[in-house]
Amino acid sequence: MTFDLDLKAAVRTIPDYPKPGILFRDITTLMADARAFRRAVDELVNPWAGSKIDKVAGIEARGFILGGAVAHQLSAGFVPIRKKGKLPHTTIRIAYSLEYGIDEMEMHADAVHPGERVILVDDLIATGGTAEGAVKLLRQIGANVVAACFIIDLPDLGGAAKLRAMDVPVRTLMAFEGH
Ligand code: AMP
Repeated sequence: MTFDLDLKAAVRTIPDYPKPGILFRDITTLMADARAFRRAVDELVNPWAGSKIDKVAGIEARGFILGGAVAHQLSAGFVPIRKKGKLPHTTIRIAYSLEYGIDEMEMHADAVHPGERVILVDDLIATGGTAEGAVKLLRQIGANVVAACFIIDLPDLGGAAKLRAMDVPVRTLMAFEGH
């Protein structure tokens, strides 16, 4: 995928963060660049411009920033998917796999109504464990997960393929090799 504005160049790569061997893809530089941020949000929502989307679900924490902008652009509501223990009202919870071990994420049980069309947003998809958990959580309360959007794909880790195997269309704007 090519853009006249080089979005990939706006992502900063930090070696050995948070631990040795990881190349951390830092989107704070992209978001701090007004043109790059606008372009990234516009490109993410492009396939759904003009179609009815009820809610955008963002995954804590960078998915909140992008998801808020995407929701505004689509005239949709925004719902947060958070680490356990952060949401104040009645929640539903799911365990999901991380690189080492498992964690749990939650959303408010009444955040999405059955049959609502929802787009899931996060900054990056790697193994897909986080997004897979989020899709299962959304489906548990009857959401119609129309798509999942990420700025960055790490295709070697197979996350996007995992979501597509769950019948979730995946949109990403750039890919980096490796992990
Ligand atoms: P995964 O569940 O393996 O798909 O991991 C996705 C989540 O971990 C996202 O919320 C990302 O923000 C974060 N993440 C995983 N790998 C990286 C990386 N190399 N650089 C930045 N964030 C990452």
